[in-house]
Amino acid sequence: MQLDITSNNSQPINQTIKKGKPVQYGKNMIGNGEFIVIAGPCSIENQNQFLNTSQFVKNHGAAILRGGIWKLRTHADSFQGLGVESFEMIKKIKTELGLTLCSEVTDVRQIEWVEDVIDMIQVGSRNMHNYELLKELGKTKKPILLKRGFAALVDEWIKAADYIIRGGNENVILCERGIRTFETSTRNTLDLNAVVYLKENTNFPVIVDPSHAVGVRHLVSPLALASAAAGADGIIVEVHPNPKEALSDGMQALTFDDFEKLMLNINGILKVMNRELTVCKPN
Ligand code: PEP
Ligand code: MN
Repeated sequence: MQLDITSNNSQPINQTIKKGKPVQYGKNMIGNGEFIVIAGPCSIENQNQFLNTSQFVKNHGAAILRGGIWKLRTHADSFQGLGVESFEMIKKIKTELGLTLCSEVTDVRQIEWVEDVIDMIQVGSRNMHNYELLKELGKTKKPILLKRGFAALVDEWIKAADYIIRGGNENVILCERGIRTFETSTRNTLDLNAVVYLKENTNFPVIVDPSHAVGVRHLVSPLALASAAAGADGIIVEVHPNPKEALSDGMQALTFDDFEKLMLNINGILKVMNRELTVCKPN
């Protein structure tokens, strides 16, 4: 099947080279068959919360940490993230645990600030259409986790990835995080169609974020397992030591127990599919 990924009108272009490529990340390769787990809190709240969560997810198979430094919140009164004040603490925890961090930049100025803090730069759903940010990220060499805009077509998402690639950075990983549909019983609707479509028609690594897709704790794990079964290259999930106290997205945060069970089941699914979990191989 040929994918029309360069035209912006109804004229299909015969494209024989698939867009995207597996992404080298330290000693790991993302998008080459192995399954990578990125896990941690929605927001980095304090040293204890981030260290305890990081230690736990590492011990149970996560290869990369997640944790927001700047948060794009709907309500201006909501927790906005610790920002630059958390940098030293983050660096210390990463070194102690020998792990790397995937975290979002919300503004072009932050790109140079995070040089030795963030290892995989996330573009949040709300910024998928921020083309000036994408162009600037094209000038870095870091892997970019490009989340799908919550109302973006797959075609628009691929075109957004192209801004980063044309800027000079081919290390783009796509992240399906749910889209807005007419359905309101869950936070968003996880589009697994997009995952299988992208795996079939492009070479982009595809990671699924079931936490933001469904928004309800007890539904996160089943969707994470479905993502593995559908052929995703990995998942990014939110985990919190005490979700009731979380400063953001507590409703969808997995408890430590939930995460431990999820990892057991993920390993089961991967085994059936003859795939392996990526283990963290630091630089
Ligand atoms: C997040 O990862 O915490 C986040 C805000 O995600 P999204 O941009 O997908 O809403
Ligand atoms: Mn979140």
